[in-house]
Amino acid sequence: MRTVTLRGTGPVAAGTVYALGRNYAEHAKEMNAPAEPVVFLKPASALRPGGGTVPWPAGSALVHHEVELVLLLGEGRAIAGVAIGVDLTARDLQDEAKKKAQPWARSKGFPGSAPVSEFVPLPAGAEWGALDLALTVDGAERQRDRASSMLLPPPAIVKTLARWFDLDAGDVIFTGTPKGVGPVERGQLVRAACDALGLAVEFRLA
Ligand code: MG
Repeated sequence: MRTVTLRGTGPVAAGTVYALGRNYAEHAKEMNAPAEPVVFLKPASALRPGGGTVPWPAGSALVHHEVELVLLLGEGRAIAGVAIGVDLTARDLQDEAKKKAQPWARSKGFPGSAPVSEFVPLPAGAEWGALDLALTVDGAERQRDRASSMLLPPPAIVKTLARWFDLDAGDVIFTGTPKGVGPVERGQLVRAACDALGLAVEFRLA
């Protein structure tokens, strides 16, 4: 069983890991893709709570970082917590899969491809749009944006997914990345943070 940590509650069994692609218009543009959210899944074994070391994905020579706000569902599709995380992507494998119209499982679901911080409940009165997200590689900033740039904000994401999937408490949702995705080399220190909530996660690919 894979668990994530929800502040004030402790370990929570993680269910299905949903992920949105193209939920920020500027990132869709840099990928030459329509600005229209797509959904894919990662196995729970992709989760790497607290970061640490992520093994380099087999068969890939190009891994990209994608910083994302991450949701944890509670009972009744409520959003129980939010975390900062990274949707690590073996971009060469993904490009190949796109060309052949194959699924993204290998490029998006390798072990440790989803480092996440602890989850915290959204503070009373806090606005989703005010949440920031940023990513540095060896201290140099690569990505920074706000949730207000999302095409589908978190409550709309849950509503939309609920039309297509039977959502459960413990499910985890990666909400998409803003512009600025790029390569990570072995050994570099990657740090993703949401300063508004005091959340961060650090890891290196080995
Ligand atoms: Mg992503």
